Amino acid sequence: MPTKRKKSAVKKAAPKQTAAAPASPNTPQGFTLPTEAEFLEELTLHLENNYHTDFENASPRELYMATAEIVNSQLLKKKWAFNKVRREAEKKESGKKKIYYISMEFLMGQSLKNNLYNLDETGIVAGVMKRRGISMEELYDQEPDAGLGNGGLGRLAACYMDALASQEYDATGFSIRYEYGLFKQKIVDGWQVEMPDNWLPGGHVWLNRRDEDTFRVGFYGDYHEYWTEEGLQYNIENQQIVEAIPFDMCISGADSPAVDKLRLWWSTNRESFDMNSFNNGDFTRAQQETNKAELISKVLYPADNIEEGKELRLKQQYFMVSASCQNIIRDHLRLHGTLDNFPEKVAIHINDTHPALCVPELMRLFMDEHGMEWDKAWDLVTRTVTYTNHTVLAEALEKWNQQLVRMLMPRIYAIIREIDRRFREDMEKLFPGDTGKINYMAPLGEDQVRMANLSVIGSHRVNGVSALHSEILKDDLFHDFYLAWPDKFTNVTNGIAYRRWLCQSNPKLASLLDETIGPDYRKDARKLEEFAKFASDSSVRKRVEEIKRENKAAFSDRLKAETGICPDPDSLFITQAKRLHEYKRQLLNALRIISRYNMLRENPNLDMRPETYLFAAKSAPNYYLAKNIIQLICRIGEEIEKDPKIRQKMRVIFLENYSVSMAERLMPASDISEQISLAGKEASGTGNMKLMINGAITIGTLDGANVEMREAVGDDAIFIFGQKADEVQKNLAAGYHSLDIYESNPAVKAAVDRLGEGFAGTDFHKLKDYLLRPTYSIADPYMCLKDFDDYCRVHQEIQDAYEDRERWNSMSIRNIAMAARFAADRSIRDYAREIWHTKPISE
Ligand SMILES: *Cc1c(COP(=O)(O)O)cnc(C)c1O
Repeated sequence: MPTKRKKSAVKKAAPKQTAAAPASPNTPQGFTLPTEAEFLEELTLHLENNYHTDFENASPRELYMATAEIVNSQLLKKKWAFNKVRREAEKKESGKKKIYYISMEFLMGQSLKNNLYNLDETGIVAGVMKRRGISMEELYDQEPDAGLGNGGLGRLAACYMDALASQEYDATGFSIRYEYGLFKQKIVDGWQVEMPDNWLPGGHVWLNRRDEDTFRVGFYGDYHEYWTEEGLQYNIENQQIVEAIPFDMCISGADSPAVDKLRLWWSTNRESFDMNSFNNGDFTRAQQETNKAELISKVLYPADNIEEGKELRLKQQYFMVSASCQNIIRDHLRLHGTLDNFPEKVAIHINDTHPALCVPELMRLFMDEHGMEWDKAWDLVTRTVTYTNHTVLAEALEKWNQQLVRMLMPRIYAIIREIDRRFREDMEKLFPGDTGKINYMAPLGEDQVRMANLSVIGSHRVNGVSALHSEILKDDLFHDFYLAWPDKFTNVTNGIAYRRWLCQSNPKLASLLDETIGPDYRKDARKLEEFAKFASDSSVRKRVEEIKRENKAAFSDRLKAETGICPDPDSLFITQAKRLHEYKRQLLNALRIISRYNMLRENPNLDMRPETYLFAAKSAPNYYLAKNIIQLICRIGEEIEKDPKIRQKMRVIFLENYSVSMAERLMPASDISEQISLAGKEASGTGNMKLMINGAITIGTLDGANVEMREAVGDDAIFIFGQKADEVQKNLAAGYHSLDIYESNPAVKAAVDRLGEGFAGTDFHKLKDYLLRPTYSIADPYMCLKDFDDYCRVHQEIQDAYEDRERWNSMSIRNIAMAARFAADRSIRDYAREIWHTKPISE
């Protein structure tokens, strides 16, 4: 338990973390930061009371835990102070809404560094730790990542919470308090093995349990409908009840008085403990029902851009959605006493279709719990809910077996059926007689509940996550809906929490920005563009080059300490870090590397700048092909390590266990950013933005946000190759014959044949088959071989460009400056204006 302070906080300005750090934090009344001495005093109390140690003897881990406890209670105090401001705003007829962001994933990573930065408290804590000879890096290393997400989608939700709080929106995130986050990746003989990610020891310090806000969620049950004079009635019996207990994480805003919250639901059932069985000595049985309930929040599903269709996953979704919707309605009624103004005061956003059940669940609550008629309830729901689509990949579109939905949630299923019936009726008016179209658009069909259709029908705004992706939604995936409701569709290009990804993870570059353009960019990303004018300043160019070199050396040193491998900081650092997926085409990268390797084996004395290929990627555990590609990369790397001559020219390093905290170290140390997905498949990408803002130059296809990155920096500061999205469509339709390419292109043939021969004793004939032979309707639907030549051509260009250091550094400066538009702050302003129709509390 946090300890009570004996002395009241002295009101005194905090020392600045760096000379050029932002102006004093924007603190609400009733909240002040401690001095260094006060912090030490408080730290000592925490160490004594909670860890039975003292400042001199505490381990780094204990110091982290106690520090995090203090920062957490500071945030709670600040939140309390801010609630007064919030309540004042709520009373006014101001057109402002509460924003609820519901997502199955929030890939938060570590919190201590971010919170200290946002509170402007880093300098104070650093001063205290110095007295023990402990660096901030060592302190931060003690914190486990909160890995409650798979990749881009989950990290986006985390970046958006930061942007919402920093810009003073009244926002709450909802998700699940998974006991185990995304698995930890171990590489054994080149093969990915999954280990449990038990993050709560060490991670729980940021979670504040709120038993008083427990809600009950019902599953299964015997459901009957019957007619009375009042119309169709139902009853439901023998439901299994699961309790949802919230754990709240404070979301601090940067240089802002706002503290928002991320509410994570934990599932349990304390009532179901079976005393009878216990008394009879059957302890397993006594605990059985509780265990079943607790299984729901046990573990994050580790699949990215692929749907599994497992019952437990559907249970997780309904559990999260039901608890969140009940919570939202209760809060609204407490504040306003009526549901009539619900859409004017509330925005509920669903991050992909995983929370789509909030549409029927809100209908259920409005009708069954609050006595509303269908039409009114439907009007309120559809004016409140908005939806972001994240993918056009067929295998990622969520569909659930109707029998499963009916068994698990009979009342919800009945409501979906009614949504389906009414939807078909409405569409019949719009597209008379076009049953083909209507069947295709309906929420129910082919024995399945189609979550994307349900999401589009149940919301009033639908957005894609980059300009290209949003166009593809209108032209393709949701074309019929677009014909029916053209105004529903819009775009919000993704963005990143640039304070985390630049200011905190690349402090040297941030200081250079302070010196050149002043510190205002730390609060207003748009100011970052002012850095572009230094692209022609040779002393700034030189500094950018030096900083990159220092970051590479630091990365290399740490890698050496962890793995023994120490890449040369003067080599080119070429990075592809993202989930392992066919469409992202790590295999294309690997094929080109093989080609380079072939060349070096023929000519080991070739005069060239050494190249370091850095890969980081997790694969879904049951995605065999992806694991095979990881193994290929690892084996190529191993074989090269054994050759002292070639090792000096090129190295291939697979970084184990990609995570947010690893990304924070990797992005500032990369020269080249590989964004090489097949055009039309990557919805946006955000890794591309993180690398860009750290001055890496992109080699990429015209896919996702790469298109807008090119617009931002200009054609000559990005390296684009490959088929365009519309060409991909045409080429696939015409038939992709990879064998023809293989037979007519000697470099392709040599690289592909090498797969069959293998590396470090492992052969990869399955990957060769995949590229050449039609196991599916066509070989490799992502057409690696088709883009191979152009990829090699442009790689040569980008590597040549690197040797012109002046040009490279000026490109780098342009990329840093023009990444301004990819700040999550900008995305959130777009959402507020175009989708939620709301404003910050302070405005
Ligand atoms: C940003 C990020 C991603 C997303 O990367 P993409 O290149 O956009 O797919 C995935 N995982 C982690 C840990 C990240 O930080």
